[in-house]
Amino acid sequence: MNWITNYVRPTINSLFSRREVPDNLWTKCPECGTMLFHRELSENLNVCTGCDHHMALAPRERFEALFDGGIFAEIEVPAAVADPLHFRDQKKYPDRMKDARKKTGEKDAMLVVEGEIGRTSVVAAGQDFSFMGGSMGMYVGNAIIAGAERAVALKRPFILFSAAGGARMQEGILSLMQMPRTTVAVEMLREANLPYIVVLTHPTTGGVTASYAMLGDVQIAEPNALIGFAGTRVIEQTIREKLPEGFQRSEYLLDHGMLDRVTHRKDLREELITITRMLMGLPPAVMGELPKPDTNSKTDDQPDGTPAEDAKK
Ligand SMILES: [Zn+2]
Repeated sequence: MNWITNYVRPTINSLFSRREVPDNLWTKCPECGTMLFHRELSENLNVCTGCDHHMALAPRERFEALFDGGIFAEIEVPAAVADPLHFRDQKKYPDRMKDARKKTGEKDAMLVVEGEIGRTSVVAAGQDFSFMGGSMGMYVGNAIIAGAERAVALKRPFILFSAAGGARMQEGILSLMQMPRTTVAVEMLREANLPYIVVLTHPTTGGVTASYAMLGDVQIAEPNALIGFAGTRVIEQTIREKLPEGFQRSEYLLDHGMLDRVTHRKDLREELITITRMLMGLPPAVMGELPKPDTNSKTDDQPDGTPAEDAKK
C-alpha cells in the first residue's frame, strides 16, 4: 500500500468514471436506450416516451395515479413472524429485510389500500418488485387475506397488481404455504360474489403465477410483461425443444387464451373503472369532473332557491 494505490488511482478512476448527469435526473430506458427526464417519465407513469416500454412502477406511485385525487387509505396487514428459519445466504435474512425496507420505504412486498377510482369504491393490492423481487412470503399472504377480508366486509371488488419472482426462499415451506392460503382468500371473494381482477405486470413468475395471480375473474396484463411459472431456459432443457419467440410474454399469452386483455398503462385506469362497474352492476361512470365550486364570488341565488334575477324584480 502506498500513496499511488491509496490516492492517485482512486482520483484517476473517479475522473474517468464521473457521470455527466446526476443519477436522479435522468433514467435510461433499458429497452431502447433513450435518456428520459425523470419528471417526464414519472408523469408518463414510468412508460418510455420513445418505445412504450413499461418500466417498474412502485405500488404507492401507481395508486397515487390510479385513485381519484391520488387519495387512498392503507389497510393494516398483520405482521408476520420475522425470520422463522434463521435463514442465512450471503446475508442474514433480517439484514436483507432491513436493506429492502430502507430502499423502498415499505414494510414488505405488498401494499393493500382502499379508495375510489372513478367514484367506484374498491380495495386494491400492489406488489413491489423492488422489495426483494416482490417475493411472496408470509407477509404477502397476510396482505392478500387482509385485502380480501376488507373487500368482503365492505362488499367491494378487489383489484390486485402482481409483480414477483416467486416465493421467498428465506421462508422456505412457509412461503409455499401462501399459495393455498391466498387461493382460499380468492375463494372468499368468489363466495361473496365480488369481482377479483388481476393486473399482471412485468415480471410475474413462480409460485405467484401458480396461485393468486392467475385466479382473477378478469386477467389483464401490461404490454410485454414476462408471465410464467418456470423460466424459458428450464423448460427448454426439460422438454429439449426450442420455444417460440415471445413465449411467456403478455401478447403471446393473450393469443393463446391465458389472458383476457393486454392494456397499456395509460388506459388501465379507465378500463378498470369500466370492468369493476360492469361486474358490480353499477351504471357507467360519469367521466369528467364537475367544476370546482367558486368560493370567491358570492352566489346570487336567494336562500329560498329563487334565482337572483327574479329576486331583483
Ligand atoms: Zn424506450
